[in-house]
Amino acid sequence: MSDLVTRFAPSPTGHLHLGHAHSALFGWTTARAGGGRFLLRIEDIDPVRCRPEHERDLIEDLAWLGLDWDGPVRRQSEHFDDYRAALARLESLGVLYPCFCTRKDIAAEIARAGAAPHGPDGPLYPGTCRHRGADERAARIAAGEAWALRLDVAAARALTGPLRWHDRAKGWQEATPELLGDVVLARKDTPTSYHLSVTVDDHLQGVTLVTRGEDLFFATHLHRLLQALLGYDPPDHHHHGLLRNAAGERLAKRDRAQSLRSLRAEGRSPAEVRALAGFPD
Ligand code: GLU
Repeated sequence: MSDLVTRFAPSPTGHLHLGHAHSALFGWTTARAGGGRFLLRIEDIDPVRCRPEHERDLIEDLAWLGLDWDGPVRRQSEHFDDYRAALARLESLGVLYPCFCTRKDIAAEIARAGAAPHGPDGPLYPGTCRHRGADERAARIAAGEAWALRLDVAAARALTGPLRWHDRAKGWQEATPELLGDVVLARKDTPTSYHLSVTVDDHLQGVTLVTRGEDLFFATHLHRLLQALLGYDPPDHHHHGLLRNAAGERLAKRDRAQSLRSLRAEGRSPAEVRALAGFPD
């Protein structure tokens, strides 16, 4: 067996569609072709959108599709202590700050500033809470105001200096996490975030090759910075292209016709669905 470890990491917020099948098959075939391990991780940190029945259904869909995985399924909601420990380390480096802003505050600040810098996912956080004094922060927290923890990306970059990461499709990349701004690492409603938990888990699970859609290409710039801050060895990456519907739009969970459930109900076989997902036998 090689030391190759890949994973598929769905969020149980709805039914899997062909795009998920493509991503899962991409990671699975890469691991199996290389004599490596393939892991399944349930990214269920969102207490409102994630449901146990979606997890049950997606595990059943993946098995129906013919996939198998190694070792136990890791469920992120059972590992908040790991994310807390990572936050404590980042806190000790002085690269986090509490942010009290609501979405409305952020939109108002961006409108007031006129021209807000934009990243790949839209306007960047304008930095409103970055410079609040320790007394104000403590008073607002003591008063029970909700707060998130944001990464001070400039302070973090000053600690790590230049960083690079590798993508099997696109080659070496200079990490530019500032493109995403001061992202949230612990949300108001849950004590972690996608970016933090995915970075911590890939490290703790020994993932050597992160395979995922190219919609997350820019997120990897930030994950590389978090790896450096947390003292993790960076994994390799392979961001794959996204399946699109007839209109050329990327598939989303709302495209119900493309869900694995509905394809199964139509009487499609696993081999047919694998082919539709871009992996003919
Ligand atoms: N949980 C993420 C999603 O469903 C994928 C995370 C990843 O592959 O890094 O989009």
